[in-house]
Amino acid sequence: MIKTISYLGLGTMGSGMASNLLKAGYKLTTWNRSAEKCEPFAKKGARVADTPADAVSDTELVMYSLSNEEAVEEVVFGPRGILSGINEGQIAIDMSTVLPATSLREQEAYAKRGVDFLDVPVFGSKQESADAKLWIMAAGKKAVFEKVKPVLEHLGQTMHYFGKNGNATAMKLVGNLIVALELEALAEGLVLAQKAGLDLTTVMEVVKVADFRSPLLVSNGQNILKRNFSPSFALKLMLKDVNLIGKFSESLESPAPALRVVQKNLKSAVALGFGQENASALIKALEKEASVEVKARSVK
Ligand code: NAP
Repeated sequence: MIKTISYLGLGTMGSGMASNLLKAGYKLTTWNRSAEKCEPFAKKGARVADTPADAVSDTELVMYSLSNEEAVEEVVFGPRGILSGINEGQIAIDMSTVLPATSLREQEAYAKRGVDFLDVPVFGSKQESADAKLWIMAAGKKAVFEKVKPVLEHLGQTMHYFGKNGNATAMKLVGNLIVALELEALAEGLVLAQKAGLDLTTVMEVVKVADFRSPLLVSNGQNILKRNFSPSFALKLMLKDVNLIGKFSESLESPAPALRVVQKNLKSAVALGFGQENASALIKALEKEASVEVKARSVK
């Protein structure tokens, strides 16, 4: 039974997961590029490591949630990275959203050190991470998945096993293609509703109950009406994912024409300075074009 865990990358997603691991009673070692994010964990008894290599030297399971490919490159493959400190028999889990090819590269590099690797990306955002309600996908050796399952059960509400390495990451990109198009649909719909002079609170009441409803449309729609764009999933990360999905779909010659529209709007929103806001700030690119601001007349 796994008792000791290293968690690297204490951003929006990682901090929620690491907190839940501490709550569950695991002996935790933390590392984050900006060291101050480790302080709340140190206060609760976690060891704080100086480097990724140091962070993984003495635990059974190593988990990380990092922004993008560049961060994985640095933290896993870089000097004083995980690979230079990890030892035979340990297990590594990447929970970041990356390309399936990156998951495969990680798996090969870990295998050379006698380390088992799973790609374990997640759906859900800041709240689901904090509440241990993530929707988890995993790929890699089945026996290794079974071994880490009791740990993952402390982080999520569902778990799906996808077979060989890279498949869970592929599923994450499939899901985020749908998320990106849902956000675009919501933004276009709300701008049209505003232009048509509809009462937007009533519009959202319909979105909440109609047969096209989804929790993602409801939470993002309600926050747009309140003009709340504080980041649960940063717009710049959505653009990062859309770029990854574009590359992935091209590599498989799978058509994704609508993705290109979202990509263009996300780039415009970043150029307007909204990259650090929530992904729903995508609507601001359309609002500029339409010369409107989507806002509830009265927020219920
Ligand atoms: P975040 O809040 O921006 O945190 C990113 C983490 O990566 C931070 O710990 C950051 O360190 C670290 N990092 C970035 N660049 C680095 C580098 N070059 N070297 C070392 N560390 C680096 O992002 P997040 O929202 O937690 O997302 C993490 C991953 O989960 C991403 O791949 C994202 O696409 C995916 N994801 C996010 C959500 C969501 O709703 N937020 C949902 C599902 C999946 P610092 O603290 O020093 O900046």
